[in-house]
Amino acid sequence: MTKPIQAIRGMNDLLPDAAQRWRRIEQQVIGVLGAYGYREIRLPIVEQTELYRRSIGEVTDIVEKEMYSFADRNGDNLTLRPEGTAGCVRAGIENGLLYNQIQRLWYCGPMFRHERPQKGRYRQFHQVGVEAFGMSGPEIDAELVLMTARLWRALGLTDIALEINTLGTPHSRAGYRTRLVDYFESHQAAFDDDSRRRLTTNPLRILDSKNPALSGLIAAAPSLLDHIDDESRAHFERLKTLLDGAGLRYRVNPRLVRGLDYYTRTVFEWVSSQLGAQATVCAGGRYDGLVEQLGGKPTPAAGFAIGLERLVEICGLSQATSPTDAPVQVYVTMLGERAEREGLALAEALRDRGLAVLCNSDGGALKNQLKRADRSGATFAVLLGEDECQNGLASVKNLRADEAQQQLSQAALGAYLRRRLGLDPA
Ligand code: ATP
Ligand code: MG
Repeated sequence: MTKPIQAIRGMNDLLPDAAQRWRRIEQQVIGVLGAYGYREIRLPIVEQTELYRRSIGEVTDIVEKEMYSFADRNGDNLTLRPEGTAGCVRAGIENGLLYNQIQRLWYCGPMFRHERPQKGRYRQFHQVGVEAFGMSGPEIDAELVLMTARLWRALGLTDIALEINTLGTPHSRAGYRTRLVDYFESHQAAFDDDSRRRLTTNPLRILDSKNPALSGLIAAAPSLLDHIDDESRAHFERLKTLLDGAGLRYRVNPRLVRGLDYYTRTVFEWVSSQLGAQATVCAGGRYDGLVEQLGGKPTPAAGFAIGLERLVEICGLSQATSPTDAPVQVYVTMLGERAEREGLALAEALRDRGLAVLCNSDGGALKNQLKRADRSGATFAVLLGEDECQNGLASVKNLRADEAQQQLSQAALGAYLRRRLGLDPA
């Protein structure tokens, strides 16, 4: 026997029950985004590696060690997208969507990062991402946060908390950076390799470390909030006023820095206490410098990404039972060559009338066909044999109630089933 090939570690199959749950949740997400005027954009899954180097930044987990990069047959350096913002900005610039315009966009799909797989952390994972371009004020930051809050309500999630912070501008961060390096340098003994490296390359990222051994050190570090510029401070104050006005609860977390380099001013995360170590369901913020950094005209921007694996997980925890897809409504059993031929056409006619129909295939005794019909979840079975075909008739059996089998003309079948299924008035 040949050994079966297995999926790649950290890349999951979504079997039909799971896929159905996912689709339902995605549709709810999309519905809420649509209610705020956000429109879908579909983007390639592969981009030039250079795009991520230039946007995410060299000294980040993603670019340093998580990208799936390869040379294609032309020798071009390509990367499976690790996140969606860079590609969205690239597309916006390339298609003239950004300059002097307001855009509210979303996308949804797989992202790839070569991380250590564990619960809530995979190598292929999925995000719904939202990007808003052309608006520099805190109102759009507030809109993004309110939109996610509405989404959690729509999904029945209550155990999810908002944390916000401001990163100021790159300029105001520079002064803070010096203070932070001074502080960390006097405590280097506790450092892990990553942090030691970052001390010279990107010390702010140390604040984002997941290493529990560093948490005390990080908690006592000087606060970025004490060092940001006045305009960023005013922006942040206004954002808090807007959130207060909307009755939204949040916690200012001065250690919240986000993993990616391109953030400016507002950053936020939604954190669930039901997820263990990988608790962030949604993360976002403002990235005013990115469009210019990627060769566009200066364009303010803000956005967020929701990790769908984590969202689906907490939706499952909060909703004990979830309804299943609408099952098929009708199962057509067929006995004999003629019935098999005419049955396919009959099923097509029923589908033309808007019914969900499953056709028996691979024959079998009527008893077996009816067993399959029962398992399919259909409400009615349509029985077709030589006799029925000869007379243009079909028999109908209610699979869910004890009632006499009906025989009626094939022409009347669609209308009858629609009535019986409550799709048309009796
Ligand atoms: P973390 O700090 O957990 O590594 P991150 O800062 O790398 O997160 P982002 O790039 O901001 O995460 O991605 C936004 C969201 O996407 C995360 O909050 C999370 O919900 C989800 N996410 C990120 N990486 C993964 C992954 N490897 N597997 C599953 N979901 C992920
Ligand atoms: Mg990460």
